[in-house]
Amino acid sequence: MPPGWSSSTVPRILARDGYRCQQCGAPAAEVDHVVRGIEDDSNLRALCVPCHRDKTQAEAAAARKARRAEGVRHGPGMTFSGTNMPPGALLPAQGSRQPQNCSQSLQE
Ligand SMILES: [Zn+2]
Repeated sequence: MPPGWSSSTVPRILARDGYRCQQCGAPAAEVDHVVRGIEDDSNLRALCVPCHRDKTQAEAAAARKARRAEGVRHGPGMTFSGTNMPPGALLPAQGSRQPQNCSQSLQE
């Protein structure tokens, strides 16, 4: 049950809508947010399971699409991941090599 819902929310909305899916008229068993995130009776409606599932899937698809659009806008140029580097290239392997070799070679 979504946060903010009381245990009476679902039966109250189902009773208000006559236990009928507000989309197709089939017997309703679930309560849907018309607009997600608004916890108000005027934003809630009874739906049957298939209609609710379809709506949920459509919302998920829309959300995925929105995220993809977001990724296209910000993606190129920010996806540098170092995948062309050999394994271990990011390890501080050359930390023990001090630049004193340079001065020695200069003195020779
Ligand atoms: Zn329905």
